[in-house]
Amino acid sequence: MDRTSATDVLICGAGAAGLTLGIDLARRGVSFRIIEKLEVPFAGSRGKGIKPRTQEIFEDLQVVDRVVAAGGIYPPDREYRSDGSFQDSADPLSSPTPTEPYLLPLMVPQFLTEGVLRTRLAELGAQVEFATELIGFEQEQESVTAQVKSATGLESIRASFLVGADGGRSFVRHALGIDFPGKTLGVRAVVADVIVDGLSNDVWHRWGDGDMARQIFLCPLRRTEMFQIQGPVPMEGDVDLSPEGLTELIAVRTARRDIIVREVRWASAFQMNARLAGKYRQGRIFICGDAAHVHPPTGGQGLNTSIQDAYNLGWKLAAVLGGAPDSLLDTYEEERRPIAQDMLGLTTKLLQALRERGDMHRGKEVQQLGLGYPGLSLALNAAARDGKLLAAGDRAPDALLQGRAGQSLRAFGLFKGPHWTLLGYHAPQETSIAARHNLHVHQIGAAGDVLDSSGALREAYGLRPGDWVLVRPDGYVGAIVDSTNLPRLEEYLQGVGLARTTAAGTS
Ligand SMILES: Cc1cc2nc3c(=O)[nH]c(=O)nc-3n(C[C@H](O)[C@H](O)[C@H](O)COP(=O)(O)OP(=O)(O)OC[C@H]3O[C@@H](n4cnc5c(N)ncnc54)[C@H](O)[C@@H]3O)c2cc1C
Repeated sequence: MDRTSATDVLICGAGAAGLTLGIDLARRGVSFRIIEKLEVPFAGSRGKGIKPRTQEIFEDLQVVDRVVAAGGIYPPDREYRSDGSFQDSADPLSSPTPTEPYLLPLMVPQFLTEGVLRTRLAELGAQVEFATELIGFEQEQESVTAQVKSATGLESIRASFLVGADGGRSFVRHALGIDFPGKTLGVRAVVADVIVDGLSNDVWHRWGDGDMARQIFLCPLRRTEMFQIQGPVPMEGDVDLSPEGLTELIAVRTARRDIIVREVRWASAFQMNARLAGKYRQGRIFICGDAAHVHPPTGGQGLNTSIQDAYNLGWKLAAVLGGAPDSLLDTYEEERRPIAQDMLGLTTKLLQALRERGDMHRGKEVQQLGLGYPGLSLALNAAARDGKLLAAGDRAPDALLQGRAGQSLRAFGLFKGPHWTLLGYHAPQETSIAARHNLHVHQIGAAGDVLDSSGALREAYGLRPGDWVLVRPDGYVGAIVDSTNLPRLEEYLQGVGLARTTAAGTS
């Protein structure tokens, strides 16, 4: 007979999205299981660019330094001309600013990033169940019952919620019959992790930029002995992914016979698609990451968007399990689907530029720091403000502050952890919001616990005395209200599961 068990959240898939969700739920004390059908972790480099916004999230999840240590900065590009000469150029390193502390062009092979995430999960007392596959599920009013197959047999897991973080071919999305419209982009590419003789590993070697038929790139993968090969290949026909086949592909495109592929650790020839799921939620079941959107790797957005989906969903699942209204979970799709839609447009546009002009300018938009949710249902603006200033829904910037005891503080330091943060800026003594579980309240100003001596917070947030800023657990501004609108803030807090705790219960 099948074994049966129960949990609050069942996460299907332990890629970057599933692992991020697992960490977020673990640090909130939510009971969950994370299952992965592979027997061992996936070993390919795939998504190797970690964007500044994701670096901020990694700070909050307490893994950023380990992720940087696992990888490094992108090497300079070496562009070869047809006569064999070359020119090196590096993206200028942007200096971090007090409001944007991470601007590193960070490169970490995906399997190393995922390794760091699994380590963090273990620290929080959880682990991935490998060789465990979701093979079916039924949804009832109050729960989802999932059928799972592993070496020990079949198991029925009853969960309050199921999250399909199960990649582009998502079993969960298919089983729910969620449509996945979009298009195949008419580009097929090889990507492979290889050991190569004949190339230095201090630059990203690039041949044939501007000509899709000749293009081939070899990027040294930081902290490994491997290079990642990327190159377009014809849409039809077999591609020889053996060491000899890839050596020949390189020779044909570079006119160099001294570059020898000794070993292929992972290789794939894939067709580029741009597709977006029709919906992200069906009752108690959600899809997240590549299960909800796939797109070309141009712009390096997929891994990052997947992590940010999970980071958006985690706190909402925890809040609803803790008693917040179920409608909070509808904001996951409301907020994340338009982001994916725009990202599909961006990556397809970059691919088009690559096809037509042979290069693509990756502007500031690929850093994902400008993304946010202004104008959506979790954004409350109730203070007289200039429209050019930061608004509810925007990313909450960092700022350098001082603690009342004289120590240096950062706004991100106040936000770090699973809680909400409320900042009262020179707010009148008599106005305040009562303390409650999961909400940290700080008063900024001469009479407060935090000082903004340089005015950095005032400037970054566009604050006036009497303003209150509520920062969500995922680092976006939830509300900006002035002191006359505190009742509206109280109402907002109730809606996100932060009702006031009194001796008689919550109010
Ligand atoms: C060549 C290439 C280059 C890329 N470059 C970048 C880049 O520079 N930057 C970037 O951000 N992104 C990049 N990406 C995209 C990135 O790799 C993906 O967006 C990312 O892996 C998505 O993470 P995920 O967790 O959503 O899905 P996945 O990583 O696909 O993980 C899903 C997991 O679910 C498991 N699973 C599936 N079905 C089941 C089941 N029924 N039961 C249990 N487990 C199941 C799978 O085995 C898998 O491990 C690139 C991708 C490719 C192919």
